[in-house]
Amino acid sequence: MLADSHAHLDEPELRPDQEEVVNRAREAGVGLIINIGIGLQNSHQVVETAHRYHEVFAAVGVHPHAVAALTARDLEALAPVALDERVVAIGEIGLDFYRRRSPEEEQRYWFRQFLEWAVSLKKAVVVHTREATADTLQILRDYSSRLVGGVMHCFSGSLEEAYHFLDLGFYLSFSGVLTYPPAEPLRQVARQLPLDRVLMETDCPYLAPQPWRGKRNEPAYVTATAQTLAKLHGLSLEEVAHRTYGNTLSAFNLVGKGQPGKDNIRDNLLVSSLKSI
Ligand SMILES: [Zn+2]
Ligand SMILES: [Zn+2]
Repeated sequence: MLADSHAHLDEPELRPDQEEVVNRAREAGVGLIINIGIGLQNSHQVVETAHRYHEVFAAVGVHPHAVAALTARDLEALAPVALDERVVAIGEIGLDFYRRRSPEEEQRYWFRQFLEWAVSLKKAVVVHTREATADTLQILRDYSSRLVGGVMHCFSGSLEEAYHFLDLGFYLSFSGVLTYPPAEPLRQVARQLPLDRVLMETDCPYLAPQPWRGKRNEPAYVTATAQTLAKLHGLSLEEVAHRTYGNTLSAFNLVGKGQPGKDNIRDNLLVSSLKSI
């Protein structure tokens, strides 16, 4: 069983045939998908989607690209959504100084607001960082002792950076970038990391792994990234799948809440949907 720790099933590229996408993931052995929000409206959608499929859970948040337009009232309106039982994290949130679609100061401000939120709601965080590692670390250090979990998504930094995040208790999630021919330095980093702190993700519909690079990505393709990691560690795909699946359950505090994809979760869902009627 594999896990995709970071998918955007409600992006316009994937919504039209979302059900087939989830079915193909099942057939490929992907038994857990974390569906990540990137904006206010999208965060509502990712939670609805998590209620439709037993193996899908949700994270709600606003991508650093989109925080410039945010208001305190927006955040208030999102609070009830974040409390939903299918929401396992706040994200994706963070800093992106590469594209700078929102001013840096605004990004830092809202990153802190969302981290405060995650602390008070006792939810994990999914962090996006690009060309902002020093600032990201500085801010995370203020919250790490109070956070219940965290994932650095689409990790592509150095070994030294990796250990800074591991020291703060974060998991590191690798995307299809790990399979790209020029990504040899990243593969060398992944080879040296403790496997119990590593997750697999697609970041679909973006960043499709080889051999689908440049095409629309989907959770079923996480297998290719896991295969690459397996080779790096000299392990079987099954072993890496099993271990990174377990890590994903731990990262999002799903251990002991029943195995996603198994009947007890479905029963719980049934009970909660009956309650809401
Ligand atoms: Zn991201
Ligand atoms: Zn993403």
